[in-house]
Amino acid sequence: MSINEVFIGFGSNLGDRCALINKALSALAVLPATFLVKLSSLYETAPVGYLEQGAFLNGVIQVRSGLSAPALLERLLAIENTLGRVRKERWGPRTIDLDILFYGAAVISSPDLLVPHPELVRRRFVLEPLCEIAPAWRHPQLTVTIAELLHQYQLNNPDEIPCRIVAGALPVVSHEVTDGIFYRYGQSC
Ligand code: ATP
Ligand code: CA
Ligand code: CA
Repeated sequence: MSINEVFIGFGSNLGDRCALINKALSALAVLPATFLVKLSSLYETAPVGYLEQGAFLNGVIQVRSGLSAPALLERLLAIENTLGRVRKERWGPRTIDLDILFYGAAVISSPDLLVPHPELVRRRFVLEPLCEIAPAWRHPQLTVTIAELLHQYQLNNPDEIPCRIVAGALPVVSHEVTDGIFYRYGQSC
């Protein structure tokens, strides 16, 4: 079984956003052959695309997983369904959204799965938390680091208000794993 470093972006803008994120992260933590590695802060962002909806809480989690990319996607969609995700309009309000941002250095282009996530370079709410936990990670197609991608984004969008970090809103899962032990800190939102 090959183990891959995977980055998953998550977001919620419907219901108790923090509680939903906590539940999603707890569900990720018990996926088979999957270990949580690093968690970003939560970032609050105004909606993009479909604007008539509440603000998002977004973040990124790094996991190490032996699941294949399609198997992992299937699990993510199942977690979304369990947490009440209903798809109506594109980019509309959602209880929880879980996207595979990177699956190791894999480049995947299938009808159900695009990896690296094609929109991540255009989304500050993804680049900021990614840069917080993995600034030196290289985009396998663009061959630049996350820090460089965020810097480029900032140069291209000088007037944009940055995502606001939600103070004291760390989910129940922890920031670091050491020697296979997953340390918990940060409590409720
Ligand atoms: P966006 O992909 O622009 O962030 P979204 O997250 O709102 O939009 P969804 O409705 O959550 O889109 O997902 C629609 C489909 O996208 C999923 O059923 C899945 O098959 C597909 N998909 C393609 N690439 C990915 C990926 N990297 N991570 C998660 N889903 C993906
Ligand atoms: Ca998404
Ligand atoms: Ca999605």
